[in-house]
Amino acid sequence: MLSFEQALTVVKEKLSEARRSPAIEALPLDRARGRVLAEDVFADRDYPPFHRAIRDGYALRSSDLVSLPAVLERVGQVRAGEHWAGTLEPGQCVEIMTGAPLPEGADAVAMIEHVHERDHQVEVPRFLQPFENVVRRGSEATTGARVLPRGRRLQAAEIGLLAAVGKAQVKTYVEPRIAILPTGDEVVPVESQPEWFQVRNSNAATLSALVTAAGGIPRVIGIAPDRTEELHRLILEGLESDLLLLSGGVSMGKYDLVKEVLSELGAEYYVQGVAIRPGKPLVFGRVGEKFFFGLPGNPVSTFVTFELFARPAIAALGGAEIEAPIFLRARLGRPFKQKHGLTAFMPARVELEDGAPVVRLVGWQGSGDLVGMAAANCLLVVHPEQSELPEGEWMDVLEL
Ligand code: AMP
Ligand code: MG
Repeated sequence: MLSFEQALTVVKEKLSEARRSPAIEALPLDRARGRVLAEDVFADRDYPPFHRAIRDGYALRSSDLVSLPAVLERVGQVRAGEHWAGTLEPGQCVEIMTGAPLPEGADAVAMIEHVHERDHQVEVPRFLQPFENVVRRGSEATTGARVLPRGRRLQAAEIGLLAAVGKAQVKTYVEPRIAILPTGDEVVPVESQPEWFQVRNSNAATLSALVTAAGGIPRVIGIAPDRTEELHRLILEGLESDLLLLSGGVSMGKYDLVKEVLSELGAEYYVQGVAIRPGKPLVFGRVGEKFFFGLPGNPVSTFVTFELFARPAIAALGGAEIEAPIFLRARLGRPFKQKHGLTAFMPARVELEDGAPVVRLVGWQGSGDLVGMAAANCLLVVHPEQSELPEGEWMDVLEL
């Protein structure tokens, strides 16, 4: 059986090998958040485009500050949105506002808080380095430099940058279509009143939300019963999308028929079981051109295996840089033991205590417990070699 790291490597490799460029769509910036950039973006001019004052004060020649206090003559004013037409001569200064271009001849700004002005005479009581309180022209990016790479997911900062460089429309990749196929004879639609031995189809709802958050377009194709013919028909329908996510039916039970049906369809398997808890029976493979994941049906298993493996796959199919899960660290707030030798991903809460992150497991009844899962804000990651976990131990956590 593959370890967590091995399985993730397999998923990343298979998706990189098969990488094709998705269709491209131009979008206005207000619709581009969360989409993946389909073009490199370049600076249309220098950033900043001029030596820019970053303080209100007086633009001056730093070489004039030989003995202190230096006294300079104020010869003008420049506001943001204007420029001062003259050239600063030795012994002169110009009143300047944040965001205004430094006048020709000046090379620094004395902060308003540090100087005294009376009758056009400005007294500067301290030395300034060249370019102090100034951001130099082109220091953020020079004309023609690449400021955003193709494949970058657009969040607020990227969108702000696109606006700054004048890209009101931007080329993005069309989001991948992700089919969701829950399986199980006991699973009934959310709107129905289940018999006491049935459960509502929560996994399709969870997966739809996760797919949307991952940058895919979810499509739920009914609920497949544990019968080969119908499963066969619905899997074929699911394989028309860019990726198929099945939930349930991948364990060892007599009516776990998903793998049998996928094999009939000529599936190649790359992952069949991963040393993780929950989610051990995870299946990943391909039928023809299309990848599929068989996610174990327990609601927490479905959630966790999606986050670990399906999310990076959806990013890759959407043309993005592969987004593998990133673990952050927090101190363990309550000690515990484990001895199964798997990588565990347990619903937990991380909170700030005295300014430091502390993580505690939420009470949960195992991988079927959505109540526990919904009380969590992260997954606590316990690696196979960790067994005795004392209070205060630094732990990996995966934020949700
Ligand atoms: P399975 O992986 O098919 O053995 O299912 C494991 C557990 O998850 C069983 O208790 C199922 O009832 C439950 N389960 C499977 N599919 C769903 C679903 N779509 N929504 C909610 N629970 C499910
Ligand atoms: Mg089942």
